[in-house]
Amino acid sequence: MHVSATKDTCAVASLCVYGVPEVFDQDEDGSVEVIDATPPDELHQAVRRAARGCPTRSIHISDATG
Ligand code: SF4
Repeated sequence: MHVSATKDTCAVASLCVYGVPEVFDQDEDGSVEVIDATPPDELHQAVRRAARGCPTRSIHISDATG
């Protein structure tokens, strides 16, 4: 899994940061920041949930491996 996020559309709702603090953080402006773009398996479900829950669809997941 590879995780990315679009700061330009992030509404600074912080839902992803509360949901998966191991993967998402906020920069000084409050915009989403991915701190672990390749999270371990045990976090994948939480990351997918965060992506679905993002009100602005700013979280992107790619499942490409290798
Ligand atoms: S849930 Fe979406 S809008 Fe909210 S902080 Fe995360 S990326 Fe930004």
